[in-house]
Amino acid sequence: IKPVVALIGRPNVGKSTLFNQFTKSRQALVADLSGLTRDRQYGDATYEDKSFIVVDTGGIGEADDGSGNIDDYMSEQSHTAIHEADIIVFVVDARAGMIGADAEIGKFLHTLGKPVYVVANKVDGVHDAAPAEFYALGLGEPYPMAASHGRGVGNLLEVLTADM
Ligand code: GDP
Ligand code: MG
Repeated sequence: IKPVVALIGRPNVGKSTLFNQFTKSRQALVADLSGLTRDRQYGDATYEDKSFIVVDTGGIGEADDGSGNIDDYMSEQSHTAIHEADIIVFVVDARAGMIGADAEIGKFLHTLGKPVYVVANKVDGVHDAAPAEFYALGLGEPYPMAASHGRGVGNLLEVLTADM
């Protein structure tokens, strides 16, 4: 049985771009339009001799009203994806920085007891590190990435598949 890895995060952070990198496809629709991926999308990913199923989601936080209640703005689809996943990849936008919804999502992910990897995407400069503010999520060291350039993807794959 292949492990299931879910891509979770706000709209427009680069989840679908990372999905495409993982599956080496153009399957997921990438666009500036927020929340474009309305349903869950499944793909096969392989790295060296390991393989897993990756799930793309539409995103959490579209209706962030600051209420602090995750259920108010997490779609049913994201809920399902999170619960069927063995491993969560929490994608955040390094250029936008840490915003309220990220903290709320992070708090929720803490309660699951599943492995969570924080990916700081849109770190476009070759030598740039992930912004230190994402350490505050308490989910470990953020992995710097530029998904649209494929940078950082191999490193993440290596870490993700290490225990598979
Ligand atoms: P999603 O809504 O989380 O699935 O985000 P998408 O994958 O659709 O990407 C949203 C936008 O961010 C698109 O315009 C992408 O081209 C752009 N994007 C994705 N990765 C990167 C990156 O590493 N750097 C920059 N600058 N933009 C990126
Ligand atoms: Mg998407």
